[in-house]
Amino acid sequence: MSDRPPHSWGHYPKTQQQSQPLRWLGDSWQAREGRETWLAYGQGRSYGDACLNDGGILLLTDALDRFIHFDPEQGLLRCESGVTLAQILALILPRGWFLPVTPGTKYVSIGGAIANDVHGKNHHRAGTFGCHISAFGLQRSNAEHLTCSTSENTELFSATIGGLGLTGFITWAEIKLKKIVGPHISQETRQFSNLEGFFNLSKESDQDWEYTMSWFDCTARGNKLGRGLFMRGNHSNTSDNIRAEAIRHPRLGMPLYAPGWLLNHFSIRAFNHLYFQRPHIPDRLTHYDPFFYPLDSIAHWNRMYGRRGFLQYQCVIPTQHAQDGIAELLKVIAHNGQGSFLAVLKQFGSIKSPGILSFPRPGTTLALDFAFHGTSTLRLLDKLDLITRDTGGAVYPAKDAHMSAASFKQYFPQWETFSQYIDPAFSSSLWRRVTQQE
Ligand SMILES: Cc1cc2nc3c(=O)[nH]c(=O)nc-3n(C[C@H](O)[C@H](O)[C@H](O)COP(=O)(O)OP(=O)(O)OC[C@H]3O[C@@H](n4cnc5c(N)ncnc54)[C@H](O)[C@@H]3O)c2cc1C
Repeated sequence: MSDRPPHSWGHYPKTQQQSQPLRWLGDSWQAREGRETWLAYGQGRSYGDACLNDGGILLLTDALDRFIHFDPEQGLLRCESGVTLAQILALILPRGWFLPVTPGTKYVSIGGAIANDVHGKNHHRAGTFGCHISAFGLQRSNAEHLTCSTSENTELFSATIGGLGLTGFITWAEIKLKKIVGPHISQETRQFSNLEGFFNLSKESDQDWEYTMSWFDCTARGNKLGRGLFMRGNHSNTSDNIRAEAIRHPRLGMPLYAPGWLLNHFSIRAFNHLYFQRPHIPDRLTHYDPFFYPLDSIAHWNRMYGRRGFLQYQCVIPTQHAQDGIAELLKVIAHNGQGSFLAVLKQFGSIKSPGILSFPRPGTTLALDFAFHGTSTLRLLDKLDLITRDTGGAVYPAKDAHMSAASFKQYFPQWETFSQYIDPAFSSSLWRRVTQQE
């Protein structure tokens, strides 16, 4: 038992729970006293309370970090659930394989990537992480240890992918990797002067480019609304340097929490303006690490938002309402002035996620960080939620710390079907918030 207080990436909300580090797959979990519940905790890269269990017990997976089997011919990898994507890359990249889908940080565990059914810059081509999982082990609180796959325990397979850690404890997982020639990405960056430019570039790029995403200036208004930089990339066919440094770890770090005044209307405006106006970025070959994981180069960058923490708002607006819905969101954000530097737009494709509760669906996703300033920040998120709800969109639970129960139930009408697969001894702060509060 440890009294280390795990937190989420946004440091909001603050919760108190016991934690039990697991070292072996067979370790028995700490006995529950009374009505405490369990929840697995990976690397805590969820922004809000999906990885927290206030008043309960967190089962820490970071020591479950062993590889079980690797077939370098077929590109099939089996490992314990606490293995991180960074560890996987270090093993597979020099052997000519890559992750089929990766989120914007490599410091997430495979258990966490399954439980949130994470997506990457190639959603339009490859779907979600869960689309590439062939099997996993699931330990339930009644001591049953099940193998789940598309042919075995199929319902629990679909419920656990994107199942927010509520269906039990994932012990191991098997992933189908992607063949590559080298560690480089041929990358292009294009400036767009408004939202229409983003949609045009997406349409033009999604066919020929495997990876696409955009940064946008969340302070721009009027005819500059939604301006930004569109990045697209493909794996390079050059094999040189295949054995080059496979993985890069942070060289810089935020040793302390930044003071609350550092991020203000003026500093955010100035950054967004300068970033948009920066000199033309030439088309180039780039190492995969800065392409996929630019933020990983600064350890603890989340401390930039100060001790009060921050929230991320990530929603998806369905295709038929995407242009108007995203414009509405951007107007509210620009008018409010609380946005920050990390602002992303991306088109999701139509590949169906295997998870019952998975978040991605066809449309446009917007993600933006907000320093937590108390009620004013929460009211802003309420306003954004009204727009998302009106368009029939959804908010991403992995990033969320605020949506109401009513919003959640509208975004995920399948939640009741999903509920029947929840392990009765598992729960999370997020789940109680979005199902119990009214
Ligand atoms: C910089 C940054 C960029 C990001 N970019 C993206 C992105 O592009 N796309 C995207 O989809 N997400 C993104 N994320 C979110 C992140 O990928 C997810 O929150 C991911 O699930 C975190 O994994 P984790 O190991 O930290 O899990 P945690 O955050 O610790 O837990 C997440 C969930 O997984 C469950 N879980 C963990 N391990 C197990 C297990 N063994 N068994 C059962 N359940 C388990 C937990 O209970 C919890 O519900 C980003 C996060 C950061 C910080």
